[in-house]
Amino acid sequence: MAEKVIVVSGSITVGELAETLNLPVTTLIGELFKNGIVATINQRLDFETAQIIVEELGLDVEIQKKETAAVERVTHTLSDKAVERPPIVAVMGHVDHGKTSLLDAILETKAVEGEAGGITQHISAYQTVRKGRSITLLDTPGHEAFAALRQHGATLTDVVIIVVAADDGVKPQTVEAIRFAQTAHAKIVVAINKIDKETANSQLVKTQLATEHNLNPEEWGGDTIMVEVSAKTGQGIDKLLDMVLLVADFEELKADIDVPAEGLVIESHMAIGRGSVVGLLVEQGELKPGHFMVAGTAYGKVRTLLDFAGKPIKKAGPSTPVTVTGFKELPQFGDVFTIVKSEKLARQATEKARIERERDAASTNVTGADLLKKMTQKHESQDLNVIVKADVQGSLTSVMDSLKLVDTGGEITLRIIGSGVGNISENDIRLASDENTIIYGFNVELPPAVKRLAMRDKVQVRIYKVIYELLDDARQSMEAMLAPEVVETEIGKLTIKGVFRTLKDEVIAGGEVTSGKAVPNVLVRVKRGDEQLAEAEVTKVQRQQQEAKEVFEGEMCGLSLKTQKKLLVEEGDTLEFFTRELVKRTLG
Ligand code: GDP
Repeated sequence: MAEKVIVVSGSITVGELAETLNLPVTTLIGELFKNGIVATINQRLDFETAQIIVEELGLDVEIQKKETAAVERVTHTLSDKAVERPPIVAVMGHVDHGKTSLLDAILETKAVEGEAGGITQHISAYQTVRKGRSITLLDTPGHEAFAALRQHGATLTDVVIIVVAADDGVKPQTVEAIRFAQTAHAKIVVAINKIDKETANSQLVKTQLATEHNLNPEEWGGDTIMVEVSAKTGQGIDKLLDMVLLVADFEELKADIDVPAEGLVIESHMAIGRGSVVGLLVEQGELKPGHFMVAGTAYGKVRTLLDFAGKPIKKAGPSTPVTVTGFKELPQFGDVFTIVKSEKLARQATEKARIERERDAASTNVTGADLLKKMTQKHESQDLNVIVKADVQGSLTSVMDSLKLVDTGGEITLRIIGSGVGNISENDIRLASDENTIIYGFNVELPPAVKRLAMRDKVQVRIYKVIYELLDDARQSMEAMLAPEVVETEIGKLTIKGVFRTLKDEVIAGGEVTSGKAVPNVLVRVKRGDEQLAEAEVTKVQRQQQEAKEVFEGEMCGLSLKTQKKLLVEEGDTLEFFTRELVKRTLG
């Protein structure tokens, strides 16, 4: 039995976990970093990640998972009527190694095979067909999204395609992706991308994976499938899909269809004229129009059921990504959805979930909020985190390159923690949910539902159409983070000739101005010889019992000083009059 048990419902923030473990948050962030996860204090960690980190820290703490879904999730044992289902595949890897391009290339293949194509809208899951068999592909815009999905069970993804650019090799996010795949018990297929490039070196990638990450290529006698591909020329894409199917065959992926439909919410937003538009991934059973669905605190009746390409369908079986309308409110990304017999049962289930969630929120927020405030003040260190979204890859690249130039290598570091092509999405907001992060959109839109989410989570979203205006904003935001410079200006000196009264926080004395001038409403350093006794505020200066604005060198004057605590000033002490200002700094 562990010394301490922490119950995590779904996920926990880095800050909350640090507090519960009684650890400085920086230690935790450091440990996460070592594991390839760049986290901020407000970032949510899923159950598995928290568990791994606690283990790696060598703490005797057990982390237990608490479900807050409307309907308790039960592990299903397959009946003998279970049917084969398409593999669910996620494409992950380091930024710029070609995830998006690869996904595009794969979907292109499908169009070549003559299936219904024409994907215009951006959705979070697709299907492609290879040799008459379907493959479901999850678009994982950020690893956070993937983590959120995993909160509800590691079985979602069957295969993870890890993309490694042959001209760049294994990078931190590659390592992160490998870890995610391993903790999710997903099979790994490595796609060594960009082999069309002259500088491509796939042998080096294989060596790195084999020696540093224990992923041994089959050709070297290991059991990790690695395929050389080019998302640009299309080379190797078919082979990659064949390998994914091969791995799927090995896993014997099956699901029951004569059970109530169940799965996960993978996207949700409001659309004008359509109400809630929710992306679901069916895991078992068959979802049909007219079904009563429950997901977290939301429920509704399936009004329209569309496939990934927006085509109405009559039913959706296991591993099928669909879009439904009909939820009365928006379920959350990562919620489990289930089907119940009646609207009444649906309502009751969501009510129970709502009460649970509110209770959870109340119990974590009390300590959480204060802690977060405390931490963010400290964390207000020296990073401006930005997420960049742009309309097309070309503008994204140029915005990111220009932003890198704004970072002058000074005190404030500009970190691009996420980027992508397309409108600002809920995932971006989720990734940002930290007051030190700004989401910059270039020529993209902020859909109203996402805007509401941004306002709720106090995430700053700024959209520009002109690149230098965006850069100016980034520069100003960095300047705003610079601690102001303290500038002190000397005004004059005075030698004390007599002390008339000393109170708890006030001294009334007189003296002779020996240089510069004595003025009211400034500060003074009270010195005895070279030793500074205190700082005080000059509240009044008098010349011959008359209040004066300034008294010059060689003249005598009376003074009132406001002190922090009782200050025993003596004849012969010196006062140095000065002002202190905070001056806003600019980047060099
Ligand atoms: P992501 O950040 O992993 O989604 O990477 P992207 O798909 O956006 O690709 C990053 C950059 O690499 C883009 O400029 C692509 O055009 C380029 N790229 C992707 N795949 C290939 C490839 O196979 N060959 C070459 N030459 N360039 C590629």
